[in-house]
Amino acid sequence: MPESMEGRTAVVFGVANKRSIAWAIAQHLQQAGARLVITYQNERLEQEAKDLIAALPGAEAFMCDVSFDEQIDKLFAQLKSHYGKLHTLVHSIAFAPADELKGAFLATTREGFRIAHDVSVYSLIALARAAAPLMEDGGSILTLTYYGSTKVVPHYNVMGVAKAALEASVRYLAHDLGPRRIRVNAISAGPIKTLAARGISGFGDMLKAHAERAPLKRNVDVNEVAETAVFLASDAGAGITGEVIYVDCGYNIMGF
Ligand code: NAP
Repeated sequence: MPESMEGRTAVVFGVANKRSIAWAIAQHLQQAGARLVITYQNERLEQEAKDLIAALPGAEAFMCDVSFDEQIDKLFAQLKSHYGKLHTLVHSIAFAPADELKGAFLATTREGFRIAHDVSVYSLIALARAAAPLMEDGGSILTLTYYGSTKVVPHYNVMGVAKAALEASVRYLAHDLGPRRIRVNAISAGPIKTLAARGISGFGDMLKAHAERAPLKRNVDVNEVAETAVFLASDAGAGITGEVIYVDCGYNIMGF
């Protein structure tokens, strides 16, 4: 079965709650046979993460705020001692201060720009660098992006610019890590109602417009995003690296 994840270990960043895209991906990776590790950002979220992984037998949860290099180093030292090798890393993390996601892009602050890029983009580079030595058998690194990287989506603002940088980072990382048989790809998901999405002003209108204009005439289901993640993580996606794969019911192909 090319989509089997048997014998592989995956670490998933970005499980905030049951609605998180990362949570659907974690569940589908485990159903495909992977051993799962999830991370949570801080002590306040520890109990919720531990309650969630009760649904994933054998999974473990570790703390890691990706804006601190020391926490990334500590996490990967723990992963090395617990598991030895790593095969899949899922980066499903983004953050911008709430005020940056309403009003005009022109009003973007220096600090808002810095935080959005640090947490949502630089973290992928830092995690890829830390994970690569554990991916001795090759591996697959995945991140989540959105169409606001390419076209203007009102109110997505600095996050659109950060997603453009994220997609470019995917290509540069794919080039650096390809010789080590580590693939790096992004899934560009259509809008899904999650905690992060609720912070974007006018998100309800986005959902409505997508469902009306997408060729499939509906919004994407989080499980469809998760199935694509399993495909890219597994040998079924072995020839794919440096790509942005749209899982958006076709919305991005429309000109009008
Ligand atoms: P979500 O459930 O709110 O997930 C966002 C995650 O980022 C949370 O788990 C959050 O952790 C984590 N995070 C933020 N700052 C962090 C930090 N410093 N260290 C560690 N973790 C941090 O929302 P989601 O919609 O599933 O978002 C996941 C990814 O999908 C994001 O990259 C998002 O841009 C992307 N995406 C979402 C949509 C959509 O419509 N929902 C569409 C396309 C792409 P805490 O909650 O613990 O802070």
